Amino acid sequence: MKLILLGAPGAGKGTMAKLLTAVDGSVQISTGDILRGAVTAGTALGKQIESLMKSGDLVPDDLIMGIMEQRLQEPDCEKGFLLDGFPRTIPQAEALKDLLERLGIELDMAVNLDVAREVVLDRLTTRRTCSNSECQAIYNVNSNPPRQEGVCDKCGSSVVQRDDETAEAISHRLETYAEKTAPLIGFYEREGLLLNVDAAGPSETVLAAISARLGTS
Ligand code: AMP
Repeated sequence: MKLILLGAPGAGKGTMAKLLTAVDGSVQISTGDILRGAVTAGTALGKQIESLMKSGDLVPDDLIMGIMEQRLQEPDCEKGFLLDGFPRTIPQAEALKDLLERLGIELDMAVNLDVAREVVLDRLTTRRTCSNSECQAIYNVNSNPPRQEGVCDKCGSSVVQRDDETAEAISHRLETYAEKTAPLIGFYEREGLLLNVDAAGPSETVLAAISARLGTS
């Protein structure tokens, strides 16, 4: 499958992408994970974007498009991909449309995970993430804690609160989402690709709604 996952921070894009990869082997491509990996590795890109990410600002469109142009041409994308956190602005969505046309790739749909602001605020403040950039498993202190506190079930690395999940950065990320990313819902509706899903409930219900539309259930 070739999907875009849209939704506010905390809407469940990463969780859904991980569940959907199990359906047919499509790869999860999270620009947030790629960028956090660059920051942790201390690459030139990582140094350039570290403070932007920490404060919850977006990384410039041209940097993101450079990363995605390469990533979408890697062989593992042939099976399909789940774009998690990309595109995030109208210029990124337009550039992605051109890129996919050039590469001869057709999207199945853009799924908007629709969740009220209070729910995402609660999810983000209680979310914990595996610190291993190769793993980045997602936990929640209330609904899905790791078996051993602070230790990832999957890889044994420490489970931490992300730097951009302080109250201040979260509120800035939600404002940025409303201003820059929410307009993508209308963009993909006009493209005839939008599936709007109520994502306040359990992830299994959300997965079932997406699978039904894709015909994979
Ligand atoms: P995420 O893990 O998707 O919440 O992304 C974490 C942070 O990475 C965001 O707050 C941005 O600073 C940056 N980021 C991730 N994806 C993008 C994107 N497509 N465009 C710009 N910045 C991004």
